[in-house]
Amino acid sequence: MIAAPKPLEAPASSSALMAITSRPECVMVRGKGSYLWDSDGRQYLDFIQGWAVNALGHCPAELVSALSRQANLLISPSPALHNAPQLELADRLAEASGLAAVHFANSGAEANEAAVKLARKWGQLHKPGATQIITTTGGFHGRTLAMMAASGKPGWESMFPPAVPGFVKVPFGDADAVAAARHDDTLAIMVEPIQGEAGVVVPPDDYLPALRALADRHGLLLILDEVQTGIGRTGALFAHQHACVMPDIMTLGKGLGGGVPISALLASDAVSCFAFGDQGGTYNGNPLMTATAVAVLDTVNRPAFLANVRQRGAQMASGLGDLSQHHGHLGARGQGLLQALHLRAPRAADVAAACFERGLLINAAQPDIVRLMPSLKVKEAEVDAALLTLGEVLARLG
Ligand SMILES: *Cc1c(COP(=O)(O)O)cnc(C)c1O
Repeated sequence: MIAAPKPLEAPASSSALMAITSRPECVMVRGKGSYLWDSDGRQYLDFIQGWAVNALGHCPAELVSALSRQANLLISPSPALHNAPQLELADRLAEASGLAAVHFANSGAEANEAAVKLARKWGQLHKPGATQIITTTGGFHGRTLAMMAASGKPGWESMFPPAVPGFVKVPFGDADAVAAARHDDTLAIMVEPIQGEAGVVVPPDDYLPALRALADRHGLLLILDEVQTGIGRTGALFAHQHACVMPDIMTLGKGLGGGVPISALLASDAVSCFAFGDQGGTYNGNPLMTATAVAVLDTVNRPAFLANVRQRGAQMASGLGDLSQHHGHLGARGQGLLQALHLRAPRAADVAAACFERGLLINAAQPDIVRLMPSLKVKEAEVDAALLTLGEVLARLG
């Protein structure tokens, strides 16, 4: 083991950084496993983990060694040349998913953009005139202009006009609403298996199977955005595996890189129709990121690892359920290690702030929803500790 390097001095609080969100004053300098430390040496139990990104926790040995090994070999040959980790990662993802073709990008939004481009291309070839994609209210697909239009966050359509056209919105979890919104110009259905940013909204069990049946009946593409739910987060490698449903297109991000920026677009052979010139990107598939993602997959895609995610998830779900009942809130929801507590009042920001004061990081996903998304390697005692702190805060805030 190499000792952790000494962190840089924290900069003064005034900074040239654009203020795009409210952030606490402290500066994070170091992380290990489920813990994060700021420049004053304060320790935080981290149940946000880079926004459900650090699948293996902070600075896990597997990632550090994959990154440093690859950094010493080759960092960026060129997107127009093959590199070994990119080929290996593509093959592994194809084998694990049953989707034959893989393209890499750098963020969830970028992978989703690519998914929409691929669907539109497929439509031009096989379903001329069909361009509309049905998406869902509350859905979140990223922050590019097209993905803001695809997302169903309240107010997003009108934020940066003109909005990108081509998306029709229906309520999440309601397959009949999708059927009713479908017309001859419908090309695809694009949903998250569980809505993450909307506050961990779990659809009925028959939702994905019903969407699959609808897509098959009308020759539509089923696009699953697994940027948040993929790579073991819900206790299966991909969340759609719980429902035994195959998408035509799937996107991955967040946990795929375990903390480094990489995302992926996967498609069935029949749908994989990009021609030369249709898609690309300077950093796409660069070996530093793909070698890291191979190390993540190596760890996550094992039955014992995923079984542990389900066990810790069950522990968290039952603990949150108990807290909810004890303090009169509206219940726990989620799957695996993507869990939320539904508060009876819009006090999620207060709860998250009070937890932060006590050294626990959780996320106020909605005004009345707190979301927990720890490392997939989280330990039993760490889940207990988080629940204990959350319980103290709920008791204090009433
Ligand atoms: C986070 C997220 C995205 C966007 O990913 P970025 O890497 O921030 O662009 C897209 N879809 C879902 C479901 C997400 O949770």
